Amino acid sequence: MINNLDKNTKKDYTKSSTMEEIQTKKKEVSAMQYKVELLTGIRPTGDLTVANYLGAVSPIVELQAQGVSPVVFVADLHAITDSEMTTVKQYIHGVVADYIALGLDPQKTKIYLQSDIAGEVNTFTTLLARLISVAELLRVPTLKDKLKNNARPETANALLLLYPVLMAADILLNRAKMIAVGEDQLAHMEVTRLLARRFNKRYGELFPIPQVLQVNALRILSLKGEGKMSKTNPRGAIFLTDDAKTVSNKIKATETAIEGVMNKKLESHVLITKELAKTESERDEVDAIIMAHKTGKPVMGHFKQIMTRIICNFIEEFQAKRAEITRDPLYIQSVLEEGSKIAKENAIETLEEVKKVM
Ligand code: ATP
Ligand code: MG
Repeated sequence: MINNLDKNTKKDYTKSSTMEEIQTKKKEVSAMQYKVELLTGIRPTGDLTVANYLGAVSPIVELQAQGVSPVVFVADLHAITDSEMTTVKQYIHGVVADYIALGLDPQKTKIYLQSDIAGEVNTFTTLLARLISVAELLRVPTLKDKLKNNARPETANALLLLYPVLMAADILLNRAKMIAVGEDQLAHMEVTRLLARRFNKRYGELFPIPQVLQVNALRILSLKGEGKMSKTNPRGAIFLTDDAKTVSNKIKATETAIEGVMNKKLESHVLITKELAKTESERDEVDAIIMAHKTGKPVMGHFKQIMTRIICNFIEEFQAKRAEITRDPLYIQSVLEEGSKIAKENAIETLEEVKKVM
């Protein structure tokens, strides 16, 4: 049955898909008996940022509403690449609570902890690492970017090099059809697809070639403009845990665009503001200000006020929901236990197949 997965379809799954295509794909998924229809991961490296919400959580919530059953995993093994284990541990439950508060429903979306299936993940990472060269891994743009901006080859540990292989192991163990990632993860997805193809070519068609689901091709920039917004680069990030005063100060401190000039940073600020706006009239308000800015009017002070108001309203609502969810201290643990049980079954099954053919 598994060997026929890819033979049954010659469709190219390497292209990004749109929201409209998802329902058709859902049918294909069940017909071909993939184990997981849609998979996504989150590193417990810090509190979530608005970029994590817009790039990663919001699309999943939308798909969940359309009847898709996503699986989300908390990537604690990925997180120890550049965070201490104690720090990672401290964020695991928080990240799950964040996802639920942002709209994920554990009845529909299973959530598991990556290290709950560490045995399977690590074994498979080792096996997959044999299929890719050091030179190829060194060429991965994300690694080059990290080594340029956040880490140095002399001090970064070797997990950074293996990061995309570990990610491939997660995806392929789950036999996932679609992977929801932000723009920053596209290069890693190329590695996963490459490894799936190489595995299939060498050992027989076992893995469907996973497809990127980039619902919003969003790349939210750091408020400071140095690369993308990341939770491990707090100076340029707006966190969902920030209070109104902090948000306001961070936005005030952003570089003010010169009248008439649209730059990448301002575009990113407009994007955040419009995406988090609750009403059409708020979005119209933003459009009107940007129009005025483009014609050379000094309206950036006003824009920053609106940006602050919209973001603070969103965060306030989120924080109220999160407080409700975390009232029962055992709830998050029970969500993770249920998710991990299913993930473990899938992983064991896949790994048995892998070992058989290898
Ligand atoms: P870290 O600094 O630990 O890497 P991060 O903010 O990059 O933190 P991740 O846990 O790596 O967050 O990624 C979680 C999800 O958020 C991924 O799907 C990722 O693509 C998405 N994401 C992260 N940053 C951005 C961004 N700036 N714009 C859009 N999506 C993003
Ligand atoms: Mg990241």
